[in-house]
Amino acid sequence: MGEPYDAVLFDNDGVLTTPTDREVLLEAMHDAFADVGVLDPSRAQVRTLLGPSVDSLREVADDHDVDPHELWQARERAAIETQLQELEAGRKRRYDDVDAVADLEDDVGTAIVSNNQHETIGNILERFDLEWVDRWYGREPTVKGIDRKKPTPYYLELALEELGAEDALFVGDSWVDVEAADAAGIDAAFLRRDHVQGVGLPREPAYEIESLAEIPRLL
Ligand SMILES: [Mg+2]
Repeated sequence: MGEPYDAVLFDNDGVLTTPTDREVLLEAMHDAFADVGVLDPSRAQVRTLLGPSVDSLREVADDHDVDPHELWQARERAAIETQLQELEAGRKRRYDDVDAVADLEDDVGTAIVSNNQHETIGNILERFDLEWVDRWYGREPTVKGIDRKKPTPYYLELALEELGAEDALFVGDSWVDVEAADAAGIDAAFLRRDHVQGVGLPREPAYEIESLAEIPRLL
């Protein structure tokens, strides 16, 4: 591990774009329940649907006698739609310092590896003209996609393989990014933006940075 890197991989939410407002996502979870005929989910079930394990998704679905796959599809559709609205309304926006990494593709491979839906990442690329990104990986909208989320390194390893990269740097704003990078055997740069001030990490990342403008000199 260590420089020189042949690829730089980015998390999306909190790194390239602002995170989606949690209250807005919780409202979308209500819509998803309503779509499968559940009009009275508990607050705990609404929170569970926002970030379930496969087991907790099945439990919530069983409680309401609905198919977990249908509930999950409704959940993903609601999350995609609400985030598209947030993008279009300008409430989910691109960080200004993204400009500092737009030229990296001249020297290294680049990719986005996100726990957000693949379709949402596609909407983000389109809206913000991130054409410098070589490859992008969001979560597939199936129950299987839940198990492939970071900290599981599934999509990170896929990105490394498809970029043909051996020594990459992964830039993220969450402990799951630091863990996934470690699991994939690559370095992590933890981006400590305002929304993660004071957040602790399970392990020391290779770098801790405050802006994407610091990335070029790590290469
Ligand atoms: Mg993030």
